[in-house]
Amino acid sequence: MTSAYTGMYACQQKATVGGTEKKKSLGVAIVGLGYYATDLIAPALLQTEHAHLAGVVTGSPEKIPIWQEKYGIKDQNVYNYETMHRIADNEEIDVVYVIVPTALHTKYAVIAARAGKHVWCEKPMALNVAQCQEIIDACHKNKVKLSLGYRMIHEPNTQALISYQETKPFGKMTSVLAESSYAGGEPQGWRAKKAMGGGAMYDMGVYAVNAIRYATGMDPIEVVSARHIIDRPALFKEVDETTVFQLRFRNGLVADGFTSVGKPNNQLRVDCESGWYRLAPMQSYHGVVGERSDGVQMNAFVENQQALQMDNDALAIINDTAVKCPGSMGKKDIQIIESIFASAESGKSVAIA
Ligand code: NAD
Repeated sequence: MTSAYTGMYACQQKATVGGTEKKKSLGVAIVGLGYYATDLIAPALLQTEHAHLAGVVTGSPEKIPIWQEKYGIKDQNVYNYETMHRIADNEEIDVVYVIVPTALHTKYAVIAARAGKHVWCEKPMALNVAQCQEIIDACHKNKVKLSLGYRMIHEPNTQALISYQETKPFGKMTSVLAESSYAGGEPQGWRAKKAMGGGAMYDMGVYAVNAIRYATGMDPIEVVSARHIIDRPALFKEVDETTVFQLRFRNGLVADGFTSVGKPNNQLRVDCESGWYRLAPMQSYHGVVGERSDGVQMNAFVENQQALQMDNDALAIINDTAVKCPGSMGKKDIQIIESIFASAESGKSVAIA
């Protein structure tokens, strides 16, 4: 296992390829030291080969000594939200990973891009298409790469399922079902607020929408129907607890989507002319596995999804190759989510432009 300290050492090492010096490991600064950054991303950065935790941006001074002690972060690599733009002058930081509430992704992703740093941005990308475009434009203008934190797309069993679009082991697809939820969640803080990007659809539904797209390899052209279900009205005053939706593709295929923070459904199932395959759970930090109607098991093991995701994203920067989860992917998902909300509100089908 690589430690943060050996990671920092790796940063000093450079390989010469074609006369150009390349870093072997990129310095990452995390913006927002909440649950996901603390419990998943920072620990994963101890396991990555091509990225290491070099800095933090936080509005909570009490967290700074804890993070410095645990990850060996230098004083000069600690920022707050007001000083964050000064990362531009810090050569030890190559990437800024935005892990704040969804409504703030755009603000901090744009500051990072303007500082000339590559941007990793958590899902869902932003609240609306205009905000997604702002992030894409800022990254393009400042010539930095942008990757979305869709960890499932890096996961090997998910990759196997994606490959079936091409190999078609059971012929033509006849239906798709994507359910992404967790049970019993009570919305806390920003997750209970609509204006902050709270609710099931943004938080968990984005996985179902993304999965429908990666399972089919197509973008839907219409929300056939959508509705919100609130079982606990005292807790869900502003945001959706459960959302059910149906998407239609140009070739007539229909996909059913389900998301909830009150029910535990978690699967991606594709039915085809002569068989089926599915992942269940389709999205969890561990144990994403699948099966096919012919008995083939999809059970490749990945020790740490986030480390795999960040190594892939770092290698795309180091080798200047395409990222797996670009801004266009995040933006399309948000366009579909906006159309799902519009359909639920109007009770009518909504075309996805
Ligand atoms: P969290 O509430 O635990 O952490 C958010 C952090 O942002 C906190 O440190 C908070 O102090 C900071 N922050 C800065 N400005 C804030 C403001 N104005 N209001 C509230 N907090 C503010 O949330 P989280 O669970 O860590 O989620 C953060 C992001 O990560 C979200 O976009 C979420 O969708 C995403 N996420 C992704 C995954 C995944 O599996 N890819 C899992 C969990 C969360």
